[in-house]
Order: sequence, then C-alpha cells, then structure tokens
Amino acid sequence: MKYDHDVIVIGGGPAGSTFARVAAAGGMDVLIIDKRKEIGVPVRCGEGLGKGEIIKQDLDLPRQCYSIEVEGAKVVAPNGKSIVWKNEGTRGWVLERKFFDKWLCELAVEKGAKVHTYTRAFEVLKDEKGKPNGVKVSHGGREAYDIHAPLIVSAEGMESMMARQMGFKTVHALYDVDTCYEYEMKPYDHENLIELYFGNKIAPRGYVWIFPKADRKANVGIGIGGLLTNGEKLGGIKGAQPKTLLDAYIKNDKQLKEASTLLDFGGVISVGAPIDEFVKDNCMIIGTAAKQVDPIHGGGIGIAMETGVMAANVVLKAHAKKDYTKAMLYEYEKQWRTGLGKDMANRLLLRKVLEKFSDDDLNHIFNTLTDADLPNVMDGRFAGPVAKVLTGRPQLLGILSALVPSGKPK
Ligand SMILES: Cc1cc2nc3c(=O)[nH]c(=O)nc-3n(C[C@H](O)[C@H](O)[C@H](O)COP(=O)(O)OP(=O)(O)OC[C@H]3O[C@@H](n4cnc5c(N)ncnc54)[C@H](O)[C@@H]3O)c2cc1C
Repeated sequence: MKYDHDVIVIGGGPAGSTFARVAAAGGMDVLIIDKRKEIGVPVRCGEGLGKGEIIKQDLDLPRQCYSIEVEGAKVVAPNGKSIVWKNEGTRGWVLERKFFDKWLCELAVEKGAKVHTYTRAFEVLKDEKGKPNGVKVSHGGREAYDIHAPLIVSAEGMESMMARQMGFKTVHALYDVDTCYEYEMKPYDHENLIELYFGNKIAPRGYVWIFPKADRKANVGIGIGGLLTNGEKLGGIKGAQPKTLLDAYIKNDKQLKEASTLLDFGGVISVGAPIDEFVKDNCMIIGTAAKQVDPIHGGGIGIAMETGVMAANVVLKAHAKKDYTKAMLYEYEKQWRTGLGKDMANRLLLRKVLEKFSDDDLNHIFNTLTDADLPNVMDGRFAGPVAKVLTGRPQLLGILSALVPSGKPK
C-alpha cells in the first residue's frame, strides 16, 4: 500500500506535538491533525505547570507562553490552616496555553512535521486484517477524505473517540473523573503561589484552585468527584455541582467576591488509573487519551509531554525496521509501567485514601504535617508521614494502612 505519511497523530495538544517533534527530528514524515480551528484555542485548563518536564526536554519556554512564574504551592485545610510548599523543586509557571500549545506545535513543524487544523478524524481506516492503516477526516465538517499511514497515534485528550475505534478501552467511569468549573477572574492579589483549598464542604473529593496570573488576574476553579454530579454518594457526601460549589466558595472569599469573571468554562479531568494497554498493531495512545494524568490533582500537561517523548523514541526504532507491530511498540508501554506508571499508581492509592477523610481528619493532618513531609507524600514515601498522623489520631489506622501495606508505619 502507498502511504501518505509515516505516522498520523490525532491531536495537536502537548502529547501529540511533543511526539511529533521527536519523531520528525528522527527523520519520520509526521502529520498532526487537530479538529480545532486554532491550536490551543479555546483554553480549557488551570494552566499550572511545574518546571521539571520543560527543563528535562531542554526547551526554552518563550516569554509569551506563560503568564507568571510561581514559587510553589499553598495548601489549605478546611479550617483555614495552610502549609506553604516552596523550594527549588516546586517552581513552575501559570501558562498561557493558547500560546504554549501553539509553540509546542511550532517546534514540531520546525523539525519537519506537518499540521492540519480544523481537521477532524471521524473514522479509523483498517486493512483486510483489521489493522489501522489510516483515518477518514473532514475539514470544517465538509470535504471528507482519507489519509493513510502505517502507524496511527491517538493523542486526542479526554474524548479519545478514534482510540475507541482502534480497540482501546477509553470509556471513563464517573468515579474516576473529576468534573470541573473554572473562571478567569480579576482583580486578585496573590503571593506568587498556586493555592489549593481542601474540604468536603468546599470541594468533595477534590479541591478549589486559584492559579494566579499577571495583571491581578487568576484562574479560579474547582474539581469534584464525578459521581457527585450524578446525584450519587461519594466519601459521605451526596450530590453536588461544581459551579454551585465554586460560586459558594467565591462568595465567601474576601477578594474574589468583589472580582469580575472574564472567562467561564466547564470540563472533565481523569483522576483514575491509565487504560490497560497503550499499544496495538499499527497504533498507539499517548497522554490524557490514555488517562496518563496525575490522579491527585488532575494535572496532565507535563505527563503528556513526557510520554510523547517516550513513545516517539520507541517509534523511531520501529520505523527503522519498518515494523509497527504491537511487539515492537510494546517497549513504550513497558517504560511507562516500570517508571512514571509506578508513581501514578502510588498517587492513585493516595487519592483513594484522601477521599475517605472527614474535614476534621483533614484538619488534623494539616496540623500534623509540615512542608518537609509533602515531598515524601507526593513521592509515595508514606511511612513517615503516616506515623506522624497516627500519633495524634490512631483511629485513622484503618484508612491509612492502605498506604503502608508492607509493614507498620515507622
Ligand atoms: C478544567 C481543567 C483544568 C486543568 N488544569 C490543568 C493544569 O492546571 N495543569 C495541568 O498540567 N493539566 C491540567 N488539566 C489537564 C490538561 O489540560 C490535560 O491533561 C492536557 O491538555 C493533556 O494533553 P494531551 O495532549 O494529552 O491532550 P489535549 O491537550 O486535550 O489535546 C488533545 C487534542 O486532540 C484534538 N482532538 C480530539 N479528538 C480529535 C479528532 N477526532 N480529530 C482531530 N483532533 C482531535 C483536540 O482538539 C485537542 O487539541 C486540566 C484539565 C481541565 C479539564
């Protein structure tokens, strides 16, 4: 069969563009298609990003891609007690994603990738053995045509409709998503920290975030357990809507209650486990489409970029042998499962434990732990922090023992 490209990437978000940049730099003929009229627009994101992945990939973030640099995070308990987490490793940006996503895509173009915007894939084409060999697309809802390649990469984000046609199980259970609402607001004066507010009354099975931006603006959002929006019970709370809770939060905040909204949107974030396989013959799935998202805070930009590189490096080896079988592509899945995937599994465990706490328990935990404990908690070294929490509240052993299954907390 005559192919149009070596690989078609569905989705020009951080995962797709990063994959395309590395694959094109390695000599592959890469086509990105994205259904949006403009890459990165409209923005549906809190726009927080740690510096780690950008530094690791040796990229130099242009000034227009971020609104401000932040020094760390302020995490606030239901009773108002806060822990400030600020060190070299907690520095990050609040991005301007409309520029950031486009910049990542431009980097791919500079390495030779081609991009077609306003181009939606709506059918995966398959050969006589049922293996993907192209996509049927339409430009602006008209002009349907076929594009062929021996490898199709789904980087479609939460929707992942094409991945489903490739046989990946991407349907989300409501329990494993957070439903969100966000405003961009002004004015808001801040301390150069992202702010996260916890509590079952504030944001059941989630949190309110305030990510500060330049010119006294801020992204003010909320994510809550998806089951709640369905009127169901989760963590002792029954039924809730993110916008209603966010509005209630804003009404009680000294600054925000006087602020204006400049942008309004809702969205859904995956906070469950990644899907059970990332590669099949002639196709693969990367980024949020594969539910490669941090289950604690729903952040997925850095992870999408990291898996973009991981997957592209494996694909370059497959391309050298013109072998796009599952066996050849599996190295990408293996790298995930033995590396980043393990960290995410720990975070998921922590999320499931966190959702069992009452507000009173959360207040106790915030009173007990310090900023020095947070890196251990976030890196899955639970034993020390768990022991501290249990000293003052031994009745939490039943819940917390899930975090230290291999022995007693020290
Ligand atoms: C409310 C909210 C707040 C968030 N806040 C943060 C945050 O502060 N920090 C953070 O790190 N993460 C955050 N996230 C998550 C983050 O946005 C995603 O994890 C990240 O964008 C994943 O990148 P991706 O490339 O995998 O997918 P996406 O960025 O979603 O890109 C997928 C692309 O695929 C395109 N596409 C989909 N289907 C098709 C199709 N059939 N044909 C053609 N194109 C298609 C889409 O148009 C899109 O451009 C937030 C998410 C939400 C909903």
